[in-house]
Amino acid sequence: MKSIYDFTQEQLIDEFIALGEKKFRATQVFEWIYRQHVYQFDLMNNISLSLREKLSQTYSIDLLKIKEKQVSKDGTIKYLFELEDGGLIESVLMIHDYGKSLCVTSQLGCNMGCRFCASGLLKKQRNLTAGEMVNQVLSVMNDTQERVSHVVVMGTGEPFDNYDHVMDFIHIINHPKGLAIGARHLTISTCGLCDKIEMYAHVGIQANLAISLHAPNDEIRDQLMPINKAYPMDQLRETIEYYIEKTNRRVTLEYILLRGVNDQIVHARQLAHYIRGLNAYVNLIPYNAVDEHGYQQSLPQDVEAFKNELLRLKINVTQRKEHGRDIDGACGQLRAKKVGESQRWK
Ligand code: SAH
Repeated sequence: MKSIYDFTQEQLIDEFIALGEKKFRATQVFEWIYRQHVYQFDLMNNISLSLREKLSQTYSIDLLKIKEKQVSKDGTIKYLFELEDGGLIESVLMIHDYGKSLCVTSQLGCNMGCRFCASGLLKKQRNLTAGEMVNQVLSVMNDTQERVSHVVVMGTGEPFDNYDHVMDFIHIINHPKGLAIGARHLTISTCGLCDKIEMYAHVGIQANLAISLHAPNDEIRDQLMPINKAYPMDQLRETIEYYIEKTNRRVTLEYILLRGVNDQIVHARQLAHYIRGLNAYVNLIPYNAVDEHGYQQSLPQDVEAFKNELLRLKINVTQRKEHGRDIDGACGQLRAKKVGESQRWK
């Protein structure tokens, strides 16, 4: 069955027209869901009983099933949701001073195979639908009874490997008649699929773009991220330049500091050289150790030295705070624990 959450408002209008219904009925349903937070057709009382019945036979509207929920001392909540087909996904709610930010999963598993990442331990089974991503936001808001103000597509999966559904998702939650989460409060993180970054440069609403760089040169990036073989760093830089030129938006370059791998002064210098001239800043990310991979968090003094070297070279730097250290914090760890060994990469 199709999910009612799969559709942008415009698509829902087309659906209703195809069902022989009036346009404004679609808008009513959209508003019931995204403004009134009503997740049952039965309760939409300005809609005729017969249409409500037709809708429940045509679309699923159930929120996601919470299989497990972990609450951290710092307020971070990690959800393990079960999809209709039994697939398990994680969403993580983080509390910031500026609001509540939800980290959303875009694929069931991931095929990018980054060497440090827990998500990549499990192969991609399928893309999530737009509705399944929307449903993560609705289910968390329903559970906490609070508004999610920011969304980051940084959970399991490569969003640009599920491009169309992720674009629909962004449009649905951004829509002014819907959740109205502003484009500046939305962030898509990609490991660097250049062709899709170029496409994305032409999309009407521009959420923030974050690129998982994690290395100062091809030699190191090749080791960490197989995608670098397809889109090496020179090409990636040209693409980022193109994106910035088209959109006039600043780009975030994510950089996980891995002890002894990419965290030395010489690396900071190479990184600064790479970024020079780009309207971009570096977000330094503390590594969340994944037992299977053997990488370690950088030493505090190396993090400081790395950051100071970038600052000295006039590169803008921010440092990501760790959230939910006391729960299965790292991306995909809760899920990886739950899903059988059989699905793991060799
Ligand atoms: N595929 C996308 C989005 C999902 S990963 C991407 O690559 O950007 C979201 C971010 O978390 C990426 O920057 C990723 O490299 C990072 N990440 C993955 N595993 C991590 C870990 N164990 N500790 C810290 N960051 C991690």
